[in-house]
Amino acid sequence: MFIGGYTSPMPSPASILKETFGYDTFRPLQQEIIENALAQKDTLAIMPTGGGKSLCYQIPSLLFDGLTVVVSPLISLMKDQVEQLRAFGVPALFINSTLSPQEYQQNIDDVKRGAVKLLYVAPETLLTPKILSLLDSVQVDCLTIDEAHCISEWGHDFRPEYRQLVEVRKRFPKAVCLALTATATSRVRQDIRNTLKFSTTNEFVASFNRENLYIEVIRKREPVSQVIGIINRYKDQSGIIYCFSRKQVDELAAYLASKGYSVRPYHAGLEDAERKRNQELFIRDDVQIIVATIAFGMGINKPNVRFVIHFDLPKSIEGYYQEIGRAGRDGLPAHCALLYSYSDAAKINYFIDQKEGEEKRVAIEHLNAIVRFAEDELTCRRKPLLNYFGESYEADNCSNCDNCTSAPTALTDITIFAQKFLSCVKRANEKFGAGHIADILLGSKNEKVMRWEHDKLSTYGIGGELTKKQWMHIARQLTSMGYLKQEGEYHTLSLTSKAMETLKKREPVFGVVQEAGRARIKGQRTDVEYNRELFEILRAKRKELADGERVPPYVIFSDKALVEMAAYYPRNESAMMKITGVGKVKWKQYGGLFMGLIKTFCEQNNISATPDPAPQTTSRDSEVGERTRVIADGFDSGLSIQELAGRHGITQSTIVEHLTKYATAGNKLRKADELKSMTSANERQIQLAFSAFGESENLFLRPVFDKLNGELNFDELKILRLLYLAQRQM
Ligand code: ADP
Ligand code: ZN
Repeated sequence: MFIGGYTSPMPSPASILKETFGYDTFRPLQQEIIENALAQKDTLAIMPTGGGKSLCYQIPSLLFDGLTVVVSPLISLMKDQVEQLRAFGVPALFINSTLSPQEYQQNIDDVKRGAVKLLYVAPETLLTPKILSLLDSVQVDCLTIDEAHCISEWGHDFRPEYRQLVEVRKRFPKAVCLALTATATSRVRQDIRNTLKFSTTNEFVASFNRENLYIEVIRKREPVSQVIGIINRYKDQSGIIYCFSRKQVDELAAYLASKGYSVRPYHAGLEDAERKRNQELFIRDDVQIIVATIAFGMGINKPNVRFVIHFDLPKSIEGYYQEIGRAGRDGLPAHCALLYSYSDAAKINYFIDQKEGEEKRVAIEHLNAIVRFAEDELTCRRKPLLNYFGESYEADNCSNCDNCTSAPTALTDITIFAQKFLSCVKRANEKFGAGHIADILLGSKNEKVMRWEHDKLSTYGIGGELTKKQWMHIARQLTSMGYLKQEGEYHTLSLTSKAMETLKKREPVFGVVQEAGRARIKGQRTDVEYNRELFEILRAKRKELADGERVPPYVIFSDKALVEMAAYYPRNESAMMKITGVGKVKWKQYGGLFMGLIKTFCEQNNISATPDPAPQTTSRDSEVGERTRVIADGFDSGLSIQELAGRHGITQSTIVEHLTKYATAGNKLRKADELKSMTSANERQIQLAFSAFGESENLFLRPVFDKLNGELNFDELKILRLLYLAQRQM
């Protein structure tokens, strides 16, 4: 077994990251967490799924003299993790109930000999006298507690054995303790800290934003063909489709299989063996798609899941975010599509109705939150999701969700509609949902309207200018803009104080009037440019090797590594070592083989130049999105920055940023002179700023700010930079 290579001189975490794991940079907070643990401080790390928690203890384990024990409840994951580590040349083992007596003894002997740096154990295994006394006989330097939320009774996955880990800590007082989790509300966090006696200063909470996930909500019309439309875009790429019920899973999986798709079902109603087999086929890339209930996913570490489709509405935002979190763990773009129809919400409501008391109340809250999220067509999807986890998302435009990438619809004055709708809500005593209010406005004679005598209201029949669908859309906007509150199981609408004010003062309201059958333009960020044909050749080789070694393909190389190889054609050791995920051991083991394939491919296709592996920011930076173009067109047609800001519902400063992006990409702005009237800078300041911009290559603002001794603030400088860019192009 490989254990050399970690002796003198003491390597740094960064060098292990590169040489062993083949990664260039740490993900957010990884370095801080690693350093904190190395400084022997007990550490609590909260990171989203795919955030990179494992390296936080794997790298320290290679720097400690003794053993790192990793406690994890996910037995099915241990084997997978240990295989991945060994492929990187890290001496790791696991001990749990799945081992045969011989394997168990062998692993115990290896630990005793000091041939292991990382030992994965299930909590109940760790607590056995045999394992505890084994650990007494070696030096334990670090006790890692994975899925640390299991320690808390407030969490969604409490495990009593986890409580007893406190005793294990006492037994190994010299070992630093590192607790990790992806799901922890502040209450659970506090509980973990209290139980393990951690101080708040050693808590690290990473952002839950997963930039590489494209998030969209699609109106559910013909769900099966909508699903097929999506999976056809990801030929041969892995994906998960979540359904509400087992029956739905079976039906959809059978239908897709009958159409020739590579697909298997997964739910708790299947035999253990079949479930296991289906999961394994998916993990090994032998099957492309898993159709599953939410029972699927906990023990899955597969990094190359390219899409997650929600065929039905999830029950809560928390669950939804965890499920889409399984997409794109490798950091490459991934697609998350939620098919939404109101009748799905009603279906969940039906089940909620059978609950009682507090449980029912909580379930209704959760459902209302996810319905609000799904119905909101204006706000960036990331905002409500991250807000839910107590994080604020400040950017106006994430450029990676449907609401941010769809062409902005011009906002119009909807004051009259708003007034009609709001006053109708009021007159119906704030006791009804949007559908009923729309019926009143439309003068419907349906049973409910007649029973409540709502045909006698002054607002009855005054809304014939819009269809019911359009009124429903108005209602959703009024809710997301904070004029209406939606509560309870019947989604009852009531007016907020903002609405009262607006009605009283007759203030204008701006929004969108939906056209019947409006088609939305949706975009998606493009991937790195790479050669598909070469990628497929490399992928086939990876699969062959993986099957030979009986491990999942990603244990050999990640998709990201293959994509980079197919983009940069590395044909020598140093170029190969620049590829993400190629460390020393992987280079030795597979480097030559893959390089051979790349060389042959290049010769056959007359490819000589080797583009340098550069950070993959270029494609995104130079690309001008749909929204940027629309804003620039508006500017060219004579709209002021202020008008544009109002129209798009974003700040003036963001409008300036869009225009700057547009100009930087080499496009001409026609009415640039107008910008001069927007700045309070005098001629001297403008000249100074221009000469400073002229000297700098990247047009950063800071040097210009300094040169002007802070006379102009950054907003001013942004305008001057845009003016500079525009004039340079004339
Ligand atoms: P988590 O346990 O937080 O869900 P993992 O530790 O499984 O996440 O990491 C997710 C994926 O990201 C893995 O494939 C891992 O190899 C990769 N990864 C982790 N850290 C880095 C990094 N600094 N650079 C590149 N890839 C990374
Ligand atoms: Zn967005």
